Amino acid sequence: MNKDRHVPEQAGPVEEAALLARSPEGVTRPEESMAVAASVAGTATTMQAALANPLRDPRDKRLPRVAGPCVLVLFGVTGDLAQRKLLPAIYDLGNRGLLPPGFSLVGFARRDWANQDFAQLTHDAIKEHARTPFREEVWKQLAEGIHFVPGEFSDDDAFDKLADALADIDRRRGTGGNYAFYLSVPPKFFPVVVKQLQRTGLADAPEGSWRRVVIEKPFGHDLASAMELNTITSAVFPEESVFRIDHYLGKETVQNIMALRFANNLFEPIWNRGYVDHVQITMAEDIGIGGRAGYYDGIGAARDVIQNHLLQLLALVAMEDPTSFDADALRREKEKVLKAVRLPQDLGSSTARGKYAAGWQGGEPVVGYLEEEGIPADSITETYAAIKLEIANRRWAGVPFYLRTGKRLGRRVTEVAVVFQRAPHLPFSKDDTEILGQNALVIRVQPDEGITVRFGSKVPGTAMEVRDVSMDFAYGESFMESSPEAYERLLLDVLIGDPPLFPHQREVELSWLILDPIEDHWATQGQPEDYPAGSWGPPSSDAMMARDGRVWRRL
Ligand code: NAP
Repeated sequence: MNKDRHVPEQAGPVEEAALLARSPEGVTRPEESMAVAASVAGTATTMQAALANPLRDPRDKRLPRVAGPCVLVLFGVTGDLAQRKLLPAIYDLGNRGLLPPGFSLVGFARRDWANQDFAQLTHDAIKEHARTPFREEVWKQLAEGIHFVPGEFSDDDAFDKLADALADIDRRRGTGGNYAFYLSVPPKFFPVVVKQLQRTGLADAPEGSWRRVVIEKPFGHDLASAMELNTITSAVFPEESVFRIDHYLGKETVQNIMALRFANNLFEPIWNRGYVDHVQITMAEDIGIGGRAGYYDGIGAARDVIQNHLLQLLALVAMEDPTSFDADALRREKEKVLKAVRLPQDLGSSTARGKYAAGWQGGEPVVGYLEEEGIPADSITETYAAIKLEIANRRWAGVPFYLRTGKRLGRRVTEVAVVFQRAPHLPFSKDDTEILGQNALVIRVQPDEGITVRFGSKVPGTAMEVRDVSMDFAYGESFMESSPEAYERLLLDVLIGDPPLFPHQREVELSWLILDPIEDHWATQGQPEDYPAGSWGPPSSDAMMARDGRVWRRL
């Protein structure tokens, strides 16, 4: 995606590396020559390693995108996200030959640990959660660059030690002062850590190097808090150095929405109000809140999922084609759609919310939301949310977009279904087409990533009976390598400095502008309606669809 890093086919490995090692503006400054020489050598080796990667599809003739020399500083290494996703993703990148030889990983946590303890934690997390096979030589290379700094976020001394450690790593491993700071920490600590990075000067990139900060959703809990958070980060890091992670954008299937729409000529002519009846976007989880009561209560399903993942999916499905796939062009089109989103007049009948009651899931009895540990009995937080939105532009006027998400639903599934209008005339008897539905194109985001088209087909036999059938594309069957984890792609993009898959602050604010009035309305409505665990949400959600003469897809 990063045009600056395009490498001509005839380039040799060192030329390739030199091109890849150029600054984002495509300029190599003379004063960087020593660092660049080291970095070129490192990148060339990385490139060779990436090309030799046994996991690489031999039909793939493109040059791999590899990161240049750098350090990733991970705050919150003992947390759930770091252990399940981030540490394994770093290893998987190394295993695919996409990290430079001098790559270093610094963990920061409030533990009295030595480097070996952090290396052990990383090793265990990789063994348990990595996507690619464990290879001793890859682990050894990664382990050489592992370093740990103990400390609390409020501890100035710990951050001073972090700065010393980074300077030392630069000297020993040729990482050139390039640091990515990943804040895998509860959102209330974002400002504290960012201010520490400012105080120690770690946020300021010396000439010829870069500093980036990565923050995880939620980006605030409403428009005001999102703006406040941005005021703090933008005082320390320029916007182009802030990488906001909405991990859905790192998923192959989500990026494939753009490929499906804009690399083909088949779908786009009918991708509009002339043919589309409505769109359903669903993210269903079968799990409850687990041990995350402290985070979830007061946030709820809509803030947790609709504000980011589902509105990003809506933007990708509904946007016009960007002039190119650079970050500005892509974000501009997404912003236009988000700006055009309109809430229905009656928020009562066009939204629904619920909370899971006790029930059964996977053959086991499960407790209701209010009985979960740490949830107050009078909580009004929803664990299910459904909303109807419209998009006021020429392409979509009058086409409803229905968004729903919930916990403890029937099964784990995320999909976008574009449901088409019925054929204007059926030259068959009603009996023949009795169980014919509407054509639909379904993008299966997870699990079973792929695309399904539903259409009517003649049932074999002497009568002209027509029924729905499916035509399927499954990633697993069409491509040799399994899809990388979203975090692999996003971490690599951070290290390369490639921003298209990271939402801009304006998108964050526009999404809160959509959600805030709904949240304000719900805040006056008392407790959400119950739905049994393992069901598909509260009756009010079905009633919302029924009022429009529609039904939710059965998943
Ligand atoms: P978590 O399990 O609660 O981990 C938080 C981490 O922050 C722990 O390592 C914790 O260390 C550390 N920490 C907390 N207070 C600290 C302090 N005062 N000084 C130093 N370290 C401190 O959280 P998480 O689930 O990993 O989530 C991290 C971030 O990612 C959050 O912003 C979350 O919203 C976001 N996120 C998470 C997921 C997910 O799947 N988990 C998905 C999307 C987004 P201790 O071990 O010492 O407490």
